[in-house]
Amino acid sequence: MQREKMLLRAVNISRHYGDFRALEHVDLSLSTGEFVSVVGPNGAGKSTLVNVLTGLHQPTTGRVYFRGDDIAGVGAVELATCGLARAFQLANVFLDLTVRQTIAVSASSYLKLRRSAFVNLMGHGEVDGIVRRVAQAFELTPWLDVKARALPHGRRKLLDVASAFALHPKVILLDEPTAGVSTADKHGVMETLLSASKTLGVEAIVLVEHDMDLVSRYSTRIIAMQAGKKIADLPRDEFFQNEEVVSIVIGK
Ligand code: ADP
Ligand code: MG
Repeated sequence: MQREKMLLRAVNISRHYGDFRALEHVDLSLSTGEFVSVVGPNGAGKSTLVNVLTGLHQPTTGRVYFRGDDIAGVGAVELATCGLARAFQLANVFLDLTVRQTIAVSASSYLKLRRSAFVNLMGHGEVDGIVRRVAQAFELTPWLDVKARALPHGRRKLLDVASAFALHPKVILLDEPTAGVSTADKHGVMETLLSASKTLGVEAIVLVEHDMDLVSRYSTRIIAMQAGKKIADLPRDEFFQNEEVVSIVIGK
């Protein structure tokens, strides 16, 4: 394995709830420069996969490696501050915090963890600096002093993603960042996300997404899930040539 290229690797992961198999024998790899979409019908196990990959849930069996290290037992918060961050299917923000406060909370937890390693590199303005950079990258600067509850839905989703980006992730996993966003606004959200990824140094993206227009436009590779199993893992063009898999994914 080329450690510097391979960012995330899952080997034979399963996740069971009692007798129910939400995830079964899934392998996955993610390298620098990739944009991998995870698609499949509702209940296919997409969110479960993201939860297991990011340490929110432990796999029932199997192993996950981040930059070559086995992450078994490492909590989601520690992983997030070490470069493996995620955003949730439902915008997971405190409604009574402002945009500035929300990003600052993330930035502070990142800096707190780093402080032990880089004591002398820290300055008081560091949180403010991260807030400014991240807000600018996500076009949230005009909303900095607005409470999350007062944001339009699309902006609130972006705020959830932006607070994940304040953790300086190398890899970001996004569970339906455009869910509930109008079709007209979805491309805007994705474009903002992509340009922010470039500006802020994200090396690879995993996106769970239902909108096949978005999937086709942005992915380098596509993974299809059905009933907990991975049924395809193909470069974008090959995926769309596979009519059987595409028809399962779009439910026709
Ligand atoms: P998707 O994101 O593809 O829609 P999920 O990963 O959320 O699917 O769920 C996959 C399956 O696992 C669903 O049938 C769901 O009901 C089940 N599941 C998810 N989380 C739990 C849980 N905590 N307990 C029991 N079943 C769960
Ligand atoms: Mg889901």
